[in-house]
Formats: sequence, C-alpha cells, structure tokens
Amino acid sequence: MNKLKCRISILFFVFQICIGANGMAQKSSNNAQSFDKRERQIVAISSLTAKGDLVSLNQALHGGLDSGLTINEIKEVLVHLYAYTGFPRSLQGLNTLIAVLNDRKAKGIKDNVGRTASPVSDGLSRYERGKQVLETLTGQKESANKTGYAALSPEVEVFLKEHLFADLFTRDVISYADRELATISALINLGGVEPMMQSHMRIALNIGFTQNQLSDLISVIEHRVGMQESEAGRKGLQKVAGKAEENQPGNKGANVYAKGVKAPPANFTGTVWVNMLVLDQEDLDVSIGSVTFEPGARTNWHRHPGGQILLVTEGKGYYQERGKPLTMMQKGDVIKCLPGTEHWHGASPGNKLTHIAIGPNTDKGNAVWLERVTDEEYKNFK
Ligand code: MN
Repeated sequence: MNKLKCRISILFFVFQICIGANGMAQKSSNNAQSFDKRERQIVAISSLTAKGDLVSLNQALHGGLDSGLTINEIKEVLVHLYAYTGFPRSLQGLNTLIAVLNDRKAKGIKDNVGRTASPVSDGLSRYERGKQVLETLTGQKESANKTGYAALSPEVEVFLKEHLFADLFTRDVISYADRELATISALINLGGVEPMMQSHMRIALNIGFTQNQLSDLISVIEHRVGMQESEAGRKGLQKVAGKAEENQPGNKGANVYAKGVKAPPANFTGTVWVNMLVLDQEDLDVSIGSVTFEPGARTNWHRHPGGQILLVTEGKGYYQERGKPLTMMQKGDVIKCLPGTEHWHGASPGNKLTHIAIGPNTDKGNAVWLERVTDEEYKNFK
C-alpha cells in the first residue's frame, strides 16, 4: 500500500480503534478538566498563524476576541510566535489582527484592550534571567557544559536565553502556560521539529498541564487545521506520555505497555486510551495497539473489513457480536472477530479493561463505525 494510504489508515486506527494501558495515576485532580474557550482560541490562533492560513486566522481572531481574550493578549501571542515561526508569519498574524480590529470597530464592537506588561526589575542580567525562566519551565538545572547546537554556536544559545526566555517570557501580559500552548500549537503545525515539539510538551506537563489537556489541544488542531497535523501531534504526545507514565512510581508492572493518549470521543462511550505499538506500513498490512477502557467505557458498534484479534492483558470486560449473546472477557482471553462482523467491546461497569487490538489485512480498509452502544444495551449484560 502506498505511503498516503498508510498514513490515512494509521490515522483512522488511532482515531477509531482504541488506546492502551492501566488507568489511574498520571493527572493531578486540580487540573484534570479540559480546556476552556480562551485556551482553545489561543491554540487555534497559534496554529493558523504558523500555517499562514490567514482566512481561517481571521475567523479565529474574531473567535478569540468574542471569547474574552484582550487585544493585548492576542497581540502578545502573535509576537511570541515570531520566536518559533519567524517574523514573516508573526507579522502576517499581526496584520490580520489589524484588519480584524478595524472590521470590528466599523461594526461598533468594543473590544477590551487589556493590560500591558509590567516592568522587570530583578537586577539580573538578561542571560541569567532567561536561564532562570528556562529552569522553571523544564524543572531542571541548566548545565554549564554546552553540548550540541549550544557548543557549535554559543551565540545562538545566548540569543535563546536573552531574547526568547528573558525578553519575551517575562512579559506578563500572558502566562507561561499560555505561551506553552501557543508554542506547542505552532511547533505541531510547523512540522519537522519533533524534538522541540516534544520538549515543549514535557515543559507543559511540568508546569501543570495534564495529558488530557494536551490531547484536547491536539483535538482543537484536528478540528481547526487538519488531521495530518493532529496526527503528528498525537504521535509526539504518545512518546512523551509513554515516558512520563513509565516514570510514575508504582506504574511498572501494572501493564506491559503505557496507556498512551486519550482517544477522540466520536466512536466511544466513556474514557478510552490508545497506545499504537505497530503502525501499519508497506508490505506489513497490520496495525497493533494497546487499548484501555475505563470502567463502563466501550466502543460503538463497528466492523473491521480485515477482521480483528483482541488479546486481553488486564482487567475484565465484554465483547458482543450483533445478534449473539454477550461474552465476558478477562486477562488472558483471545477473541477472534472475523472480517465484516458487527460487534463492540469494552470494560465492565466496575473494572478497567486493557486489550491488545491487532488489525490484520489493513489493505482491506479501516474500521467502519456505527451507532453507539446505548446504556440500555450495555446494562442488559450486567
Ligand atoms: Mn473491534
């Protein structure tokens, strides 16, 4: 199968099948909620600025102002972005903002200008200040030993500290959190900068974002920009999230594979996590993912044109084919689902379930998703 088809089927697998690992842990209770309107607008504005899609950016800027972002906050996001997308994209963003503000003024809309940046008076050199900001963001001491690009080009390392992390980050018109949302969104949409994208995802987790929230960020990109971009973001988050989870005390051994990232809700009821272990590729028409269902979570009714094999690695749950009675499944069970058979699977009401979902014959097409498994249907099998 060709590269594009391959890409699309990976995408559909991640979106449509499931997610993997053991549940609990990982998010602190105080910030487990999803993004608010304002945060979604920052993601949209930053993504579209990075893309240079000025028509959609115009709409996003209206949306941002309507959702309560001040003019100065939006301006700050667009200025911040020059460090990541370059002056041309940043200035095009600011030009688009001028047009939007003129348009709104003509319509009699009064937007809130908002506050300006407080003066900085910490007595530090710009380099020291930038270094401290960076250490706060990463949660790690900066080493005096310069390696990689910083060894090759000490001047670029100074520019980065003095200008980006001192001059820009210390402008308190927007928070570090807002800046990281803008940065991650821009880097996902730029493409080809995975190490930076992942390091900013780690920074976001360090300053209090949850994996759920970063999943939400990626869903906003899927909705406002496209699936190719969101797929790149999801892959990056999966790597970062997998490592973060391994490092959680007590998580080793609960499940062989990390839980992965939250699946978009369209084809599932409840919370479901997916960790893609083997992505479909040329000459090997199979996809393998570890999928974890929280108690009560389940797939919609669906069928796989190439069939599916489920290897249950943890917990207890249900599997049912259309017109047949429910089957209980638990750790160690192997379920074979023939090509084209309509079915659903998920956790029981009181247990999590993790299974490895093997999708053979991927060249026959992606899963076909049908209606939700209603509470009524699900309860019949308690
Ligand atoms: Mn299935």
